[in-house]
Amino acid sequence: MPGWRNVTNVAVSLGTNAGNREANLSAMLTELRRILDDPLAFSRVMETEPVDVPDSQVWFLNVIVSGNYAGNAHELLCDCRTIEHALLRKRPFKNAARTADVDILLYGRESIGSNELTVPHPQIANRRFCLEGLRRIAPGRYIAAHGQTVAELYERMPASIKQQRIIFHGMPDQSYFTME
Ligand code: ADP
Ligand code: MG
Repeated sequence: MPGWRNVTNVAVSLGTNAGNREANLSAMLTELRRILDDPLAFSRVMETEPVDVPDSQVWFLNVIVSGNYAGNAHELLCDCRTIEHALLRKRPFKNAARTADVDILLYGRESIGSNELTVPHPQIANRRFCLEGLRRIAPGRYIAAHGQTVAELYERMPASIKQQRIIFHGMPDQSYFTME
């Protein structure tokens, strides 16, 4: 069928809290635009307090992005790792400060539990910035693992998660089709 492609709507989380965070975020967004197709949506930039880290770290810059992806989930993971490598991501120890963290939050409606990939991302409901970002760009998405939509998870967020501090920056959430 001419022009037809099998695509899956996905949501990805971007994070950086080492090096030049603005430049890292900008580079991640540029790469993401290359691998995701319309309809693209971006949350606002969120500056977030590190959670569960073993040392003292600067705050993260986070953005949640959704769009259509033309490959399978493992191909998307490979693309995410390629973006991290391009930004010289190092893994000296678990939860170390990082120049780039690109995580898959949602891959269509699929639940995946392989050695290297868990989708929906297991931390979706434990990270306030994930719910803040997702409810802005994908409020109606149903998360089977939780039996609730993003909007419901957001509204029922426990106080312990809500207290994770966030500073909202930049432009409001954006959702658009690019014209080619
Ligand atoms: P984290 O993101 O948990 O802080 P890393 O970025 O170092 O840690 O990721 C470690 C590994 O987690 C990745 O190499 C990948 O195989 C695995 N992983 C499992 N599920 C996911 C997911 N949904 N998105 C990204 N990576 C994932
Ligand atoms: Mg990661």
